[in-house]
Amino acid sequence: MRTPIIAGNWKMNKTVAETLELVREIRQSLGEAPEQVEVVLCPPFTSLWVAKNSLGRSKFSLGAQNLYWEPKGAFTGEISPVMLAELATYAIIGHSERRQYFGETDETVNKKIQAALAVGLKPIVCVGEVLAEFEAGKTNEVVRRQMRGAFAGLVPEQVQNVVIAYEPVWAIGTGKAATGPGANAVVAQAIRGTLAEMFGGEVAQATRVQYGGSVTPANIAEFMEQPDLDGALVGGASLKAADFVEIVRATAKAKS
Ligand code: PEP
Repeated sequence: MRTPIIAGNWKMNKTVAETLELVREIRQSLGEAPEQVEVVLCPPFTSLWVAKNSLGRSKFSLGAQNLYWEPKGAFTGEISPVMLAELATYAIIGHSERRQYFGETDETVNKKIQAALAVGLKPIVCVGEVLAEFEAGKTNEVVRRQMRGAFAGLVPEQVQNVVIAYEPVWAIGTGKAATGPGANAVVAQAIRGTLAEMFGGEVAQATRVQYGGSVTPANIAEFMEQPDLDGALVGGASLKAADFVEIVRATAKAKS
């Protein structure tokens, strides 16, 4: 059984005061996080501490949006996994915006995954093709390459603590989501297929894989009806409490 996981990627949005307000609104509307779904909030680094205090002992989890792979040192402006381990349970690694704007590669993604796991942080590893690759029919090839790069050198026991997000880059923030069956096929073939080759069939079936890309309350059910999709990584819609809560509720319903 794979527990579905809905994560809100707030990106570079929300001040400390706005974070407290959004956390309050989500909790007021949802109450306690439902049993059937793991709910993760990923605010900016600057809001992790207040979000953690505000959430207290509730069942919501926190995630960071990035990290650097060294534990400490002269790396001005970077945040280490050791620092984040005090504040968060998860860390998003390899988001397409980091690959596109900040030079993230399969190799740096791999270093970050290893560094996160070494301190007990659970990576949410993002993979996905850009529009030109999608149109050229290269989706599976690209995703398989990203998977092999990201997971190089890991052992099966480590993969248990990793969540993967399949995020077609052309669907992120564009309002043009993939289709449920289309996303499911990529996850089944390219993601679980590569996991099976690298770590065996049991790991491939046990690993949680989210869909990400223009998820809304209106389309979440289409994705959650798919057998290989175990939740979603939600960008824009995670900034509105009502939308995020509806996505969590619809996931609980579809997967129960
Ligand atoms: C994301 O940031 O990972 C994402 C999927 O964004 P959006 O939901 O806005 O497309």
